[in-house]
Amino acid sequence: MRLELTDEQRAFRASVRQFAEAEVAPRAADIDTTNRFPHDLVRQASARGLMGVTIPTSDGGAGRDYVSYALAIEEIARASATLAVILAVNNSLVAELVARFGSPSQRDGWLRRLASGQALGAFALSEPNAGTDAGQQRTTAVRDGDGYRITGRKVWVANAEAADMLVVFAATTPDIGGRGVSAFLVPVDTAGVRAGDVVDSLGVRGLGCRDIDLDNVLVGPGGRVGPEGDGFRIALWALDGGRVAIAAQALGIGHAAFDEAVAHARQRHTFGRPIGRYQAVQWMLADMATELDAARMLTYRAAAAKDTQERCTSEAAMAKLYASEAAHRAADRTMQIFAAEGYRRGSTAERLVRDVRATEIYQGTSEVQRMVIAASEIAQVQA
Ligand SMILES: Cc1cc2nc3c(=O)[nH]c(=O)nc-3n(C[C@H](O)[C@H](O)[C@H](O)COP(=O)(O)OP(=O)(O)OC[C@H]3O[C@@H](n4cnc5c(N)ncnc54)[C@H](O)[C@@H]3O)c2cc1C
Repeated sequence: MRLELTDEQRAFRASVRQFAEAEVAPRAADIDTTNRFPHDLVRQASARGLMGVTIPTSDGGAGRDYVSYALAIEEIARASATLAVILAVNNSLVAELVARFGSPSQRDGWLRRLASGQALGAFALSEPNAGTDAGQQRTTAVRDGDGYRITGRKVWVANAEAADMLVVFAATTPDIGGRGVSAFLVPVDTAGVRAGDVVDSLGVRGLGCRDIDLDNVLVGPGGRVGPEGDGFRIALWALDGGRVAIAAQALGIGHAAFDEAVAHARQRHTFGRPIGRYQAVQWMLADMATELDAARMLTYRAAAAKDTQERCTSEAAMAKLYASEAAHRAADRTMQIFAAEGYRRGSTAERLVRDVRATEIYQGTSEVQRMVIAASEIAQVQA
């Protein structure tokens, strides 16, 4: 069993780390304070092939494997959790979905632009009454000639502030749950698409999250992705990859927290010694390092599974569950090690605590990941 990255993966990680440290990290506090979408950093990330990391080069992407993609998200998240999730949404939830399920004309129209950064995508699944229970879509898509009219409300649409296209999920057969849901590609400038104000969130600020109203939005015959009724299955497929990316994002946040904690433990003195000399602090650091390493193994395993399997649902859920909770504990311990300085508004420690919390909520809460894992593991026992 080999647990080593290839030379190519290592070199790619080094180049993303260099970009993240030089260009992204210095901007993280400002993105957080202003809650402004970092358009310029997204452009720079695009130029480095980070908008379609796993999309083939023939379609405008970087043509890399999923482990490389996870490494990239981890490195970016270490510098800015916000930029990491902007990239994760465009890569996993939009570009990969179009690459896998899009018709030739959808791929021609969108994939190259999404993967090269000429267009930004967003994923509109959640509704005011359909978050965890996302199959219960109240948004409807009603046949109109060869196309559909979509009406409903979507909430918490990340990237919406800057997006050119939304993947919208809507019930084509209402009241039968997930089996009645279809997926559509909707350009944001389509008549009837109205975006609300940017959400004032606790963390991952600057993500450009908006609620979106769809009022009788006409989608032409080429707008549906996959067969009618396949939308929920398509969403779940995309979320496999998305959860690997969020696991990597959590890992990056946890890593940033660990780095901060070690630096502080070395330089802060009490009773004439650095606090890092006390066993109480050392044990916190030891637990952080161990849990983040375990999270890293689960995340890379899930990424490797995504490369070779059509579905990696259980691996991705385990990685997201464990990495997000381990990173949460790491950020919390970092605040403890900084104590009052970490509790000060504007400190890196407090930003990391706020940012990491979202990783246990979006793309399925920790409870959902446990449900997914239980269902998969129980099915294996019964098989
Ligand atoms: C920063 C941010 C960005 C987001 N970006 C997007 C996006 O781009 N696109 C998008 O579509 N959505 C997005 N979301 C929405 C996100 O996916 C949902 O918030 C999430 O799926 C949970 O749904 P909910 O908030 O409605 O919680 P609810 O479904 O109301 O759940 C409430 C609580 O009940 C628990 N619960 C519910 N059902 C069960 C059950 N059966 N068993 C045990 N526990 C249960 C949940 O785990 C949770 O703790 C984003 C959210 C945030 C915070």
